[in-house]
Amino acid sequence: MQTAALDLLRTTFGHPGFRGEQADIVECVASGNDALVLMPTGGGKSLCYQLPALLRDGCGIVVSPLIALMQDQVEALRQLGVRAACLNSTLDAAAAAGVERDLLAGNLDLLYVAPERLLTGRFLNLLDRAQGGPGIALFAIDEAHCVSQWGHDFRPEYRQLTILHERWPGVPRIALTATADAPTRREIAERLALDEARQFVSSFDRPNIRYRVVQKDGNGSRALLDFLAGHRGESGIVYAFSRKRVEKVAEQLQAAGVDALPYHAGMPAEQRAANQRRFLQADGVVMVATIAFGMGIDKPDVRFVAHVDLPKSIEGYYQETGRAGRDGQPAEAWLSYGLGDVVNLRQLINQGEAGEERKQLEVRKLDALLGYCESTDCRRQALLGWFGEAHRGACGNCDNCIDPPESWDGTEAARKALSCVYRSEQRFGAGHLIDILRGVSTEKVQRFGHERLSTWGIGADLDARQWSGVFRQLVAGGLLEADVERHNALRLTALATPVLRGERSLRFRKEAPKAARRRGGSTTPMIELAPEAMLRFDALREWRAATAREQNVPAYVIFHDATLRAIAEADPGDLDDLAGIAGIGGTKLERYGEAVLQQLFDVA
Ligand code: ADP
Ligand code: ZN
Repeated sequence: MQTAALDLLRTTFGHPGFRGEQADIVECVASGNDALVLMPTGGGKSLCYQLPALLRDGCGIVVSPLIALMQDQVEALRQLGVRAACLNSTLDAAAAAGVERDLLAGNLDLLYVAPERLLTGRFLNLLDRAQGGPGIALFAIDEAHCVSQWGHDFRPEYRQLTILHERWPGVPRIALTATADAPTRREIAERLALDEARQFVSSFDRPNIRYRVVQKDGNGSRALLDFLAGHRGESGIVYAFSRKRVEKVAEQLQAAGVDALPYHAGMPAEQRAANQRRFLQADGVVMVATIAFGMGIDKPDVRFVAHVDLPKSIEGYYQETGRAGRDGQPAEAWLSYGLGDVVNLRQLINQGEAGEERKQLEVRKLDALLGYCESTDCRRQALLGWFGEAHRGACGNCDNCIDPPESWDGTEAARKALSCVYRSEQRFGAGHLIDILRGVSTEKVQRFGHERLSTWGIGADLDARQWSGVFRQLVAGGLLEADVERHNALRLTALATPVLRGERSLRFRKEAPKAARRRGGSTTPMIELAPEAMLRFDALREWRAATAREQNVPAYVIFHDATLRAIAEADPGDLDDLAGIAGIGGTKLERYGEAVLQQLFDVA
């Protein structure tokens, strides 16, 4: 059985070997057992049901909540020579009838269906007839966390999927999700009647993603443009906090010559769909979006995810950044934030309608995220730790590991800042406080007679940026809070007292100097190839773009970046050499082999 699976993996999917627990999962389901699979985004969940469906008799039925994605999945499978189809509301009656006939005639390996469709009497009857005929290979329940009422993707129909087990007890089921926490896992097992299923819990580490956090000045557009300069021609997502911010950032990027598109819930539906389509199909589009965008986006070659505003929690952040680098190739998760973000989010929580308990929870989540941002330790260790997974640290692929930040004893500076807040009666924001500390005599300073304060000019040793960093870290650490009713005036909290009394010392992260950030490591391209291989890679990409346009499918469905890169590096001379490259299965070799060789020949 194992060798049959491995053969299929190589010949049909073109992958040299299994990843992580894939082999065990395939074995488990192919031999007729149930499985519950937890794997991070990009871990390779699809193969876990696609292979067993091919290995077993009959057609595999895949329940998927996202109609928009079915088509891409099916298209990708067809490119591999797998007989796949989907049934959903976008199909007209004739097309749907055709799919049903194929199912009953045993002409399908995989059938994707939306949960509401699956639960109709008509479809259940169809499944009865299929089971009596060519057979049902398995049921795969994708995005299984949709069964959880506490998650944000709750789909009531998922609760009724137990019918699959009741009606066809002999057909193995496999439920898959990338949502990790233990309560959700228990709920999935319970709600889907999968208590007996074997659980496969993978590490949630995404070693190919490089995490980076930078401090921003003002609205941060400069920092973003610097970051994007290192990702020219690559697809990526920029997450912003609100619709307004999305539109603004998209405009700024377009003005700077970036191929950027906006995406948010306030746009007309057709425009939104068109933008999503373009992002999926074209190479190198940057989508500027609110976090609603990306759930279930299976585009494997998203090379970066940038947050220009603070996300609300580490869970959210990890899920959003997980959309980068699903193909396993190097990708970057970049986050910029500043004092303004901290103040805004704290304010939003305070002003919200939520009850006290909920607010406390939100505050704790934000604190955890801020702790992550200001940390000088390995980011990966901190992220995985949040999900209960131990990591040895020193990952070598986060900003703190690559370029260890300096920290400094900020006790003295913190005391100056805090007493300045106190002396000026807790009525002013950071900008004005910094002017007082640095002894800058503005009109406002004079109007309030702040030159006479004992804290006037006591902070001339630090520049405005450094002071801004001090205030940000004091707010992040909860020693200062912004007063919404008084134009974000900063005021002391109980946590400030021990510092003012000299009972507690503080260490701060050193602000990176401006110039260094400009050059910063992020501008080195993620994908490095020798100049000649780069020429071949570019030619192959152009060919792939044209081919994808002709067939009206996303570029990655033809070949992944990783495959193109491997071809560009190996520079194969004939079809045999080409066949040896990972990502090239039999069907693709037949379909595209000659064309690929021609491209290589043309640039040689
Ligand atoms: P998930 O659904 O877990 O997010 P996918 O099933 O979409 O992940 O797989 C992510 C990417 O990894 C896809 O591009 C897929 O082709 C690739 N992949 C999956 N399994 C393997 C493997 N064994 N070897 C190489 N690439 C793989
Ligand atoms: Zn690290």
